[in-house]
Amino acid sequence: MLIIRAGVVFDGDALHSDSEVLVGQDGRVLEVRRVQPPPERARVIDHGGGTTLLPGLVDGHQHLSWGCTANPEEGLPREPGGQRELAVANARRALAAGVTTIQDLGDSGYAVVDLRNSVQDALSLPRLRASGPPITTPGGHCHFLAGAQTEPGEVAAAVRRRAERGVDVIKVMVSGGNITAGSLPWESQFDEDSLRALVDEAHAVGLPVAAHAHAASALRDCIHVGVDAVEHCTFMTADGVDHDPGLVGALATSRIFVRTTPGATPGAPAPSPALAARMQQIVQGLGMLRDRGARVVVATDAGVSPGKPHDVMAHALLVFGHVTGDPVDTLRAATSRAADALGLAGTCGLLVPGLAADLLVVRGEAAVDLRALLEVEAVYREGKLVAGPSVATP
Ligand SMILES: [Zn+2]
Repeated sequence: MLIIRAGVVFDGDALHSDSEVLVGQDGRVLEVRRVQPPPERARVIDHGGGTTLLPGLVDGHQHLSWGCTANPEEGLPREPGGQRELAVANARRALAAGVTTIQDLGDSGYAVVDLRNSVQDALSLPRLRASGPPITTPGGHCHFLAGAQTEPGEVAAAVRRRAERGVDVIKVMVSGGNITAGSLPWESQFDEDSLRALVDEAHAVGLPVAAHAHAASALRDCIHVGVDAVEHCTFMTADGVDHDPGLVGALATSRIFVRTTPGATPGAPAPSPALAARMQQIVQGLGMLRDRGARVVVATDAGVSPGKPHDVMAHALLVFGHVTGDPVDTLRAATSRAADALGLAGTCGLLVPGLAADLLVVRGEAAVDLRALLEVEAVYREGKLVAGPSVATP
């Protein structure tokens, strides 16, 4: 048995002082309890006062095989194995920053799905889920990723192809986006009937749907047809941002997860001028979404631009924490609630008996000041110390 101690333990929901986490041989949490004399033969790692131990962070929106370049299409490796190699390096970088679970929402040629299937030492990387290439229209947002782009009438077949390839989730570009020339975030790409056919097919084969949606029209269709999560959810319009209160209320009532992707490394430019001009309003809207009761989770869109490296998660949380003024709930939005949004509530994100001992230890009181998340002391994957000052980087 392994016993890990820190100044404060955040279990994914609540805080515990003078506490320790017991981890079994199988890498699962046995118990969070008040510090006690250890049983015989238990190994104790004490990170000391002034540290916070929490579940490893869950980033539900990354692009592991992308190169964080100003033009994502140009940054995508073209040589055989190049995407996989880049994905491994990016995943390790995320893990070292405390991200122990990643959902990849857009590769090319199923590179991340194949990595998930064949990784030799699973604990050397975060837990991986992957969508494969997103479903998008000919010439639509991120069309350069999809081998065969999808006419609106062919969405069910596109879902089945991905299901046969073993994806964990269907990613669909419901609106245009900010990084594809000719694609406008404030316009829908698929009509409601096509989107309904897509969601019905995905749910019939047991897959959730993660829907990229900036425009109000796209968000409205997502609510009507019952997607599982909306990505970004910026409410961008042609000339600004408009958080339609009726639509915000409908999102909250729907229980659809709202996966926001705020934040970047300090000083980095926004992925597009359109986003830069609207950023302040978009961020304000996150507070409104949360206050109205939407199930907001925090993710990054890492890989999409130079300001979004794969260890950028702490900066996303700083933005969300700043706008909500609630650091503890911000931690929930990146641990227990974020895991729930991936269908992993019974697997990770919460330190309760039987769940994975994926752990992050940081220096400082993260539940008071989220900047502590920038000071990583240790990262554990299923009870194994995999990153931190005492672990040599591979
Ligand atoms: Zn993305």
